[in-house]
Amino acid sequence: MGGLTRLGVAGWPVAHSRSPAMHNAALREVGLDGWRYQHLPLPPELFAEAARALPDLGFAGINVTIPHKAAALAVADVATEPARAIGAANTLTFADGHVHADNTDAPGLLAALGDERPRTAVVLGAGGSARAVVYALARSGVAVKVWNRTAQRARVLADEFGAEAVQDLPGADLLVNCTSVGLADPLSTFKDLPLRSDGLGEYACVVDLVYRAGGTGLLREAKRTGARTIDGIEILVHQGALSFERWTGRAAPLEVMRRAARATAFPDDDPRARPPVSQTRHAPDGGGERGGGAR
Ligand code: NAP
Repeated sequence: MGGLTRLGVAGWPVAHSRSPAMHNAALREVGLDGWRYQHLPLPPELFAEAARALPDLGFAGINVTIPHKAAALAVADVATEPARAIGAANTLTFADGHVHADNTDAPGLLAALGDERPRTAVVLGAGGSARAVVYALARSGVAVKVWNRTAQRARVLADEFGAEAVQDLPGADLLVNCTSVGLADPLSTFKDLPLRSDGLGEYACVVDLVYRAGGTGLLREAKRTGARTIDGIEILVHQGALSFERWTGRAAPLEVMRRAARATAFPDDDPRARPPVSQTRHAPDGGGERGGGAR
């Protein structure tokens, strides 16, 4: 990779990201001792200029998170088909004097699902992450239904990717929560979404992109029904693994990345998921699961 040994995650804010811990553990594991992955706090007005300067500072690539994913695609010289279709990039690679954009959120979801591919899916949400999820599922032949609080956004998203917008949720092989509901308040899941806890048995597998210390209400209830559950950290790990492989050319050490991501203190994408200080201090289990600290 021509002496480029720096990596990072650009966001605003981004200090809470688990990606540096996850990627630095992976770099150590595969023996890339001189490589480092760091937080890159960049306000929106600086993103494009800073991204173009990164290769000269020794960066081989970066992950990009809220609010820069569309800007990352715009700054690229070359983009993969998923990044172009989704309209957002979460991975930039600096090589051959060019900025390459990719979206590993979409294949990351499929990788997390593994060999058990659903035939039907219900996706909740129509924001940035829902675009990647609906794209990934629809492109792999899954019949996708999309529900969103703002119904018009669901219709636009569904039309774009050959899915169907719905107002009432049907049962399906797979349910994916791509809304931010449940992040700040686990009790909001069954108030803000058209779901009943006793209706989750209609889904063989439930994925919640949201992750928070102590887990989400959606996955807790889904587990009770015997559904297979996949949490947001698992999705984070798989998209990160695919980015890691693009930058380094090495196979990503998934288990090492998983352990590091789960051991880090705060969720990656949304600082609202940080626990109040008082809860952390008085955590009955030392700041772990129920205390709202690290998982
Ligand atoms: P976004 O673009 O801001 O979209 C937010 C979505 O949530 C919209 O569909 C919005 O509906 C819906 N929503 C917000 N509040 C709601 C409420 N009270 N009731 C019902 N729907 C509500 O966000 P995003 O980037 O897609 O991210 C969504 C969540 O996924 C975030 O919590 C983020 O942390 C998480 N995420 C996780 C990963 C990962 O790697 N695990 C990756 C990306 C995102 P409206 O259209 O009606 O506003």
